[in-house]
Amino acid sequence: MIPVTKTFFPPIEDYQKQLKRIWENQWLTNNGELYKELSKKLLKYLGVNHVIPMTNGTLPIQIALKEYAKEGEVITTPFSYVATTASIVWEICTPVFVDIHPEYLTIDETKIEAAITKRTTAILATHVYGNPCHIELINSIAKKYDLKVIYDAAHCFGVKYKGQSIFNFGDVSTCSFHATKLFHTGEGGALFCQDLITRQTMWYRHSFGHNGPEHYHGLGINAKMSELQAAMGLSVLPYMEQIIAERKSICDYYDQHLDFSNLRKLKLRASTDWNYAYYPVIFNDEASLLKVKFNLESNKIYPRRYFYPSLEELPYVNSNNCDIAKKLASRVLCLPLYVGLQKSEQKDIVRLINNK
Ligand SMILES: *Cc1c(COP(=O)(O)O)cnc(C)c1O
Repeated sequence: MIPVTKTFFPPIEDYQKQLKRIWENQWLTNNGELYKELSKKLLKYLGVNHVIPMTNGTLPIQIALKEYAKEGEVITTPFSYVATTASIVWEICTPVFVDIHPEYLTIDETKIEAAITKRTTAILATHVYGNPCHIELINSIAKKYDLKVIYDAAHCFGVKYKGQSIFNFGDVSTCSFHATKLFHTGEGGALFCQDLITRQTMWYRHSFGHNGPEHYHGLGINAKMSELQAAMGLSVLPYMEQIIAERKSICDYYDQHLDFSNLRKLKLRASTDWNYAYYPVIFNDEASLLKVKFNLESNKIYPRRYFYPSLEELPYVNSNNCDIAKKLASRVLCLPLYVGLQKSEQKDIVRLINNK
C-alpha cells in the first residue's frame, strides 16, 4: 500500500541518545534542557527571530487569536486544513471567508479590503502547501486598517521567501510539527514572532501566565512542549536537508513524467525557496479527479483530497460564497510524497494517472 505520506523515523539510536539525557536530567517538561536546545537549533536552522515550540500547531493559532482577535471578525481563507477555521470559532471569533487566487491557492489579497468591517480585528491566512501569500499587500492592508496578521504556516518548515524564513512575516506565524508534517516532534508545533515583547507575551499565554511560581501575567493556557517531544525534534532535525532533497527528487519525477494536458500544477509565488511539502495536482473537473482517485485506490495507492471540502462548508460557519475555493477544493488531489517512496512506485502512480 502507498499512502499519501509516511512519517519520517530517525534511527532509533538517535532518539535513545536523547532519551538518555532526559533520564539523566530527571526532567520531563517546563523549559527543559532539550526544549531549550531545540529552540536554539530551530532559530539557527530556520534563521528566525523568535520561536516558542509548543504542544501542537493549533494552540499557537488559538493563542495568537486570543491575544489579537478579541472575539471580532477574522478574515481568513476557505482553503486550508480545518484547524485554521476551527481555531477562529473556538476563540469565539467570526470567520469571514475571502476567496482564493485560482493559481496560487492562497487568499486573494485583492478581495480582502472589501471584507473589512468595523468589527474586523485580524487576518488569519494560510501559506497553503508552503506557498507564500501575497505578504506585502496583506501587510499594507493590515497597516491601513490597524489589523493584526497571523500566518498559519503549518506547511512551511524550511520555506524561504525573498531569501529569509517565511516565519519572519506577519505579527505571528505558526507551524505544525505533527507526525505527518515535514519536520515533526510526533505532535508539536511552534509560534514565531518578530520582537521580544511579543515573544514574552506569547510565552506567558502558553504557560498559564506564570511569572514565577506565585505571580501571573494575564490569562494563559497550557501549550508547553515536553522533553519527549523535544527529543524527537532533536533526532529529526539533523536529517532535514536529506528529507527535503529526497522530496525534491520525487517532485521532479512527477514534474517530468505526469501528462499535464488535463492537469495543472500549483503555481509557486516568485522568490520562494520551496520545501516540497505536498504535491497537489488540479484536475479540470471533479469527475476526472474521482476517476483517477478510484483507479489509484484500486491499486492500493491512497492520494488525499487536501483540502476538501472548502472550509466555508463546515456546519458551524456562515458561507461567504467563495466560488473559486469551492470549485478548486473539489478538483485538487495530493499525490504520495514521502522519504522512502520508490521510483518504481512513482512509475505506477504516474502510469495510472496518465492512462485516465
Ligand atoms: C496540520 C495543520 C494545522 C494543525 O497542526 P497540528 O499540529 O495538527 O495541531 C493547522 N493548519 C494547517 C494548515 C495544517 O495543515
